Amino acid sequence: MPYIFNIQKFSVHDGPGVRTTIFFKGCPLKCMWCHNPESQRYQPELMKNKDGKEEVIGRQYTVKELVKIVQADQIFYDQSGGGVTLSGGEVMTQDMDYIEELVKELNRLGVSVVIDTCGVVPSHNYERILPYTDLFLYDLKLINSEMHEKYTGTSNNLVLENLKLISSHGGKINLRLILINDVNVDDEAICGIASWLREQNISIESINLLPYHDFGRDKYSSLNRECTQNFEKPDDERIEEIKGYFEKVGYTVKIGG
Ligand code: SF4
Repeated sequence: MPYIFNIQKFSVHDGPGVRTTIFFKGCPLKCMWCHNPESQRYQPELMKNKDGKEEVIGRQYTVKELVKIVQADQIFYDQSGGGVTLSGGEVMTQDMDYIEELVKELNRLGVSVVIDTCGVVPSHNYERILPYTDLFLYDLKLINSEMHEKYTGTSNNLVLENLKLISSHGGKINLRLILINDVNVDDEAICGIASWLREQNISIESINLLPYHDFGRDKYSSLNRECTQNFEKPDDERIEEIKGYFEKVGYTVKIGG
């Protein structure tokens, strides 16, 4: 059974409307800018809280327990067009029998399901949940595979393959691009993404530009791990330029989640 490290109610940045976001523990990537390092390992671990006390991060819930928790806010989903977002870590690398049961049950109850994913996932896992998923929040970090490997530990082959797969199956996609200075915001990186999307005929609902932030820095020492972050976000002018560029080539673009 998967471990979950957070259930965030009344979330407004993880898909349409008011949502409950469930954060699954464990991720195949190790992004150097990760602001949720407690999400990376698949097993529970100890983390020091602000008082210096240690707490266990990660606990298990049955599907029935999770459904009960999220159903408590059904009225807010109905009023706002919201629902449930499954996030992480990487939800799509968890026990897929469990995830499939969960999304089927939410679907049966009329609760909208959004999947937040990094794409480094066996393709078959997406095929299992596509019929029950309303929207994918799909992270694309770098179009250059070598750089992707340098910064995340893994090439982007599966990221691109799975983006094609979801698009060809008619899945709705919000593409999420983290923006980090000196990593992925030069013209080559940005135009490379737009050209690839066009060449592959990928259907995108909208693009979210997510400027890097370092809110997760302190968590590394709380987990007794070395912080890998020494990044900066691009300045506002560059962010607006990138937004303008994607708009000019036909995309709906939003800055932020
Ligand atoms: S994909 Fe997300 S959760 Fe996984 S390491 Fe990268 S930033 Fe962290």
